[in-house]
Amino acid sequence: MPDLYGLFSNRRAAQQALLDIADSELLCYGLLGLEKNPHGRACFRHQLGRCAGACCGKEPMVEHQLRLLDGLQQMRVFNWPYAGAVGLVEQHSDVRQIHVINNWYYLGSVENIADAAQLTKMVHGFDRDGYKILSGPLFNGQHEIVLLA
Ligand SMILES: [Zn+2]
Repeated sequence: MPDLYGLFSNRRAAQQALLDIADSELLCYGLLGLEKNPHGRACFRHQLGRCAGACCGKEPMVEHQLRLLDGLQQMRVFNWPYAGAVGLVEQHSDVRQIHVINNWYYLGSVENIADAAQLTKMVHGFDRDGYKILSGPLFNGQHEIVLLA
């Protein structure tokens, strides 16, 4: 997950932050990429009651992601690493969407970079729905991120 680690000062700091959050929020180490889950089965920590079971369908994935984001927010482990707004590019076959984010605020989604400039001028508060949309793409490290400012 090179993109994820890039958000922290170093890989070690990122892993420690994730471990702390996972322990306090009953998150799954396997889903966070911190260890390998047995294929198709609950992780070992779930058997110990330390993972709420997103790995084996005992809780919805979105709940897991939201607790991860809550944990990250509370710990303030994310320093916005860019000079300004960025676009998180999501490509589904021939449909391209750019999710515009600034300082961890989700500003909206557009289809081309020219439209993104309008969004970067807007000021939004915390948007939980935006975080739901973003949580997967931001953490899987598989999407292109473009600088808008
Ligand atoms: Zn688990």
